[in-house]
Amino acid sequence: MNIFKTEKALSLHLNTQRKNGLSIGFVPTMGALHNGHLSLISAALQQHQEVVCSIFVNPTQFNNATDFEKYPITLEKDLNLLEETGCTTVFLPSVLEMYPPGYKAPHYDLGYVETILEGKFRVGHFQGVCQVVDRFLEIVKPDMLYLGKKDFQQCKVLEKMVELRNHKVDLYFMPTLREESGLAMSSRNQRLSVEQKALSARLYEELNSIKENIQLIPTKELISRAIDNLSELGFKVDYIEIVNETNMLPIEQWDGEPAVILVAAYIGEIRLIDNISVL
Ligand code: AMP
Repeated sequence: MNIFKTEKALSLHLNTQRKNGLSIGFVPTMGALHNGHLSLISAALQQHQEVVCSIFVNPTQFNNATDFEKYPITLEKDLNLLEETGCTTVFLPSVLEMYPPGYKAPHYDLGYVETILEGKFRVGHFQGVCQVVDRFLEIVKPDMLYLGKKDFQQCKVLEKMVELRNHKVDLYFMPTLREESGLAMSSRNQRLSVEQKALSARLYEELNSIKENIQLIPTKELISRAIDNLSELGFKVDYIEIVNETNMLPIEQWDGEPAVILVAAYIGEIRLIDNISVL
């Protein structure tokens, strides 16, 4: 497995691979890897000879200083997992490498998708996500970018960024990997106590309970019931929302179109997000 820390070294390697006719899959991560991340690497390996995984905790996408400072870092373990999975190349840039002197962050005109849910509760977050992925796409120039549906709104935002910046890359969205309890795998789960982790599985249960009743009960009522249930358990809910899968507009009464039910909630200091599809 190749490990590169600079844009120059990575580009040199990838230029050679491209000249040799190899196609490139790219999986951006912030490290503290789990099986969800590895499922993206495995999917990429099925379709590409060269699979680049980046590990970079991007400061510009954190709107909360403590969340950034406490973001788990497990580099040695991550590198072992990537090697075992068969990843061919790892990119470990520094902040200076990603945002060198003179780098001017573009503003991404993301429109509606940035004004709702994560965009509303984490102001500026998606601009940071776009900055870092835009830079990565410039450097890696992959044929395919692998993203997890766990971050459903992020998938939508990045689809828009790729269109705005005219990147020649295909996007591939992977299903969410879960613990046996149903809890969506997440690097932030490492910060949960055993009790908090057990309780956090209730997020997925509430999403499923909404899904089961979506044909019968108006969405407003389903949402307020779920928020009440989670609040009673000690969660601080930022939002639960039911939106159309394509345009992310809120749905008042389910119309049979593909929809997504999304949640963001704090358990203690840790903010968790999850979502499930309807249809
Ligand atoms: P992160 O390291 O959290 O920035 O995640 C890197 C990539 O892995 C993103 O595209 C995420 O959506 C994806 N990802 C995170 N958790 C999961 C999961 N449980 N299942 C599948 N993909 C995931």
